[in-house]
Amino acid sequence: MKKYLIVGGVAGGAGTAARLRRRDEHAQIIMFERGPYISFANCGLPYYAGGVIAERSRLFVQTPERFKESLEVDARTESEVIAINREAKTVRVRNLKDNSEYDERYDTLILSPGAVPVKPPIPGIKHPNIMSLRSVEDIDAIKGHIEASTTGRAVVVGGGFIGLEMAENLKERGLEVSVVEALEQVMNIIDYELAAEVQQHLRAKGVNLHLKDGVEEFFDHGSTVTVKLASGHLIEADLVILSIGVRPDTAFLKESGITLAKNGAIVVDEFFRTNDPNIRAVGDAIEIKSPITGLGCTIPLAGPANKQARLCADAIIDGDQTPYEGSIATSIAKIFDMTVAATGLTEKGLKAAKLPYRIAETHAGNHAGYYPNSLQLTLKILYHPVTGRLWGAQAVGFDGVDKRIDVISAFIGKEGTIWDLAEFEQAYAPPFSSAKDPVNMVGFIASNALDGLSDPISWDEAERLRAEGALMLDVRSEDEFALASIEGAVNIPNTALRGRLAEVPKDRQIVIYCAIGARGYLAERILRQNGYTKVKNLSGGFKSYDSAMRERAILENGGVVVVREPVGVISHLYDDGSPRKRSVGFKSHTIDAVGLQCPGPIIHLKREIDNLEEGDRITVRASDPGFAIDVGSWCKLTGNELVGLSTTEGIIEATITKGSSAICAMSDSAGAKPAICDPDNGATFIVFSNDLDRALASFVLANGAVATGKSVTMFFTFWGLSVLRKKGAKAPKKDFMGKMFSSMLPSGMGELGLSSMNMGGLGAKMMKKRMTKKHVDQLEAMFNDAKKSGVRMVACQMSMDIMGISASELLDGVEIGGVATYMGAASESRVNLFV
Ligand code: FAD
Repeated sequence: MKKYLIVGGVAGGAGTAARLRRRDEHAQIIMFERGPYISFANCGLPYYAGGVIAERSRLFVQTPERFKESLEVDARTESEVIAINREAKTVRVRNLKDNSEYDERYDTLILSPGAVPVKPPIPGIKHPNIMSLRSVEDIDAIKGHIEASTTGRAVVVGGGFIGLEMAENLKERGLEVSVVEALEQVMNIIDYELAAEVQQHLRAKGVNLHLKDGVEEFFDHGSTVTVKLASGHLIEADLVILSIGVRPDTAFLKESGITLAKNGAIVVDEFFRTNDPNIRAVGDAIEIKSPITGLGCTIPLAGPANKQARLCADAIIDGDQTPYEGSIATSIAKIFDMTVAATGLTEKGLKAAKLPYRIAETHAGNHAGYYPNSLQLTLKILYHPVTGRLWGAQAVGFDGVDKRIDVISAFIGKEGTIWDLAEFEQAYAPPFSSAKDPVNMVGFIASNALDGLSDPISWDEAERLRAEGALMLDVRSEDEFALASIEGAVNIPNTALRGRLAEVPKDRQIVIYCAIGARGYLAERILRQNGYTKVKNLSGGFKSYDSAMRERAILENGGVVVVREPVGVISHLYDDGSPRKRSVGFKSHTIDAVGLQCPGPIIHLKREIDNLEEGDRITVRASDPGFAIDVGSWCKLTGNELVGLSTTEGIIEATITKGSSAICAMSDSAGAKPAICDPDNGATFIVFSNDLDRALASFVLANGAVATGKSVTMFFTFWGLSVLRKKGAKAPKKDFMGKMFSSMLPSGMGELGLSSMNMGGLGAKMMKKRMTKKHVDQLEAMFNDAKKSGVRMVACQMSMDIMGISASELLDGVEIGGVATYMGAASESRVNLFV
């Protein structure tokens, strides 16, 4: 009778024990588990925290009693294996219930100790409100905190899949959630432009993101913690979840002589054999050879652990017959309404492995666009530029992401190529797919590239070429171009291109783009067949480029989201400054544009709104994520009014009132009346100076005006911007002039001097002293009063650009706007002062 000992009683350990029993009825099997539970659903823990899994008992797939009863496995919980004696073939076990120790002999030892969360030595990390998630005990403690009435703010450190699943579940429990990530993106298993879509979704769901900003220190305030980031940013938290990765839980093997990799992982071969013929290992704790790169890798995922367990047991029983082919790290996560999945290598992984690659990217419907509720997904593949062998794939979207990634994973696992994707035959009917599935589409794009028909490039390659002077040729319609375009692009719609070839130079590098890449390809074919050779097509089109560039802009702004367009905000004025008036008895219309890709929803909206009367309302339902951004800009451009904008489960609903000079805002999406309906009730102040006395005067007047019921806007321009500067704010990199202005301007209202009699700052000090004596509020207090009373403070975008001041350097609550914002406010005002 063989005696098998197993270390670890969850995914890999319990799986091996069960398979061993099925293959050998007579063996003695003992499984040691350090914790009090075996075979629990670690993957379900975040959902238990969020209440999606309501009953705690549902987390337990097996119990020691049931394991004994059905499998005759002796599962010993609270039993930690602390050492191995390979000579004697025994393990040393500590019974954690009474701290006693004993030895147990084995014929074969199987190790599946899993991984533990990384806890770097950050000052203050030992605070009891800072927790990580691996076990049932961890989630019990976290849940206890969530349910405490004092817990309102959570910080999740780490934007990987467990961190984001936790962020979602904490948010669902009503907490204010901030995610802090040291890298420039969340979900490192996908590339930047896809992660950008996830980041935008997280923000839309109300999660605060701090990217490229690691934690430097935790400050202990008793029942709360302040998280200090490398940028100097401080976040108050009642609960901190650390989710910055895992490392193999193999400390107990250090003295065993078992070969460990640099990261502590147990090195095994394709039969899970360690360097000791009697010891095998599976799961999160092992290092295997990647079937793609041939390099050692650790894959902490449940699917591989379970499959390894089965194969490992077979290898023990059959004597190493069926080798493990390795894992390509196929993974998936639900992030609120979105699904994110990946398989194989990303661009970063390929670069690290020095493997050559090309990309193909598409934005396509999960099923036929004409069938209800078609939702868009983004699918990207990476492949060898000559052989077409698939390296990796990734997708984000709202439905059908899993199916596409699973299919491609199967091909990658079998060393499939892009031509396999092009030929792949899917089960098709309109509710499930399209006659040409997104998987086929990326296959087509890639095979066109390898056949020399097209030269698709990624968003960052396009941006590099743009910076080097390439001609960016936008082949979308004029309407789409007017909404937003790549800087410096020239618009020739693809339908007009044949007649306007004379406008396209032959000797210049050309980067063609459309919305998602399809029309770009048509235009590329026109140019190539007319003798153009220096032509590239932006894969994924403007949508991929714009998603990535928006995120880049946010990063450059020190993580501050600058709303460039008034999306979802009601403008109470037309662009010429004339006010909207109330409409009565309006008619409502609805357009179903779900499944249509950009610019479909906008074109439908335009067509329908042309047939409406002024003041009528139209509601558009769409699934193209770009529509949520475009519709606000479109309304602004066309003088219509966006009165409501929401997104639920991937469906965007925008409500628009048809505009004209005779129409006015009704109410916002929440039903509240607009703040300004009386055009004479406003007061506007232009703050141009950085003199303390002038700034004081403008705030005295602004606070006075607001007290008399006026709606006040303060527009800070040129030197006046100094008043709004945040003291000690970390600014993004500046050019020479930006640096010069930064050093010359006062860094905040505390440093302003007087316009006369300043006497090297002495005058300002005297003034402040006198104000205190006379019980007059200081400038800081006046600013706070103004903010509380709803004074709108707008920093002039143009002045900021000129003076190199970024949004992150400004005080919280300040809007950034252009002249149109000022003109809008001024035309509603009787009082308009320049200070
Ligand atoms: P584990 O399942 O962690 O089991 C190891 C066990 O060994 C532990 O219980 C530990 O207590 C015990 N042990 C360690 N050392 C000793 C010792 N010396 N003596 C005795 N016992 C010991 N993967 C996915 O693929 N999809 C998901 O959605 C997913 N979600 C996850 C969510 C969370 C919150 C977590 C924590 C993990 C998630 N995973 C997911 C990862 C997945 O759970 C692991 O990949 C899988 O459990 C690994 O199996 P394993 O047997 O190697 O380790």
